[in-house]
Amino acid sequence: MSTIFSQIIAGEIPADIVYEDEQCLAFRDVNPQAPVHILVIPRKEIAMAADIQAEDEALVGHLFTAANQVAKQEGLSDYRLVVNNGAGAGQSVFHLHLHILGGRSLQWPPG
Ligand code: AMP
Repeated sequence: MSTIFSQIIAGEIPADIVYEDEQCLAFRDVNPQAPVHILVIPRKEIAMAADIQAEDEALVGHLFTAANQVAKQEGLSDYRLVVNNGAGAGQSVFHLHLHILGGRSLQWPPG
């Protein structure tokens, strides 16, 4: 099922896009939890991490290299990459995304 992120991919609703290529795009989170909070999403509709298939392995690896590139572009050396899988883990948009969080010290464990 399509989500608001599919509408961002389609250009139907605005987003502050900081990176895009043929496989993914990255845009600033509308409700930032850190000075830098960016979401990296595949163009392919994958609802959640648990739905990643063997055929998606290269794509998922690409999301990480894109995230690292975005973090570098944002001047981050230390940052956290987060994937929430399922509502009970805090997932609210069911289109796979990596959160990039940085620009402040981050505590562990997360809540
Ligand atoms: P999650 O809770 O892991 O599913 O993360 C979804 C994230 O998407 C949240 O941090 C929201 O603030 C963010 N979000 C929802 N709608 C938008 C939007 N239209 N543009 C940017 N970020 C959004």
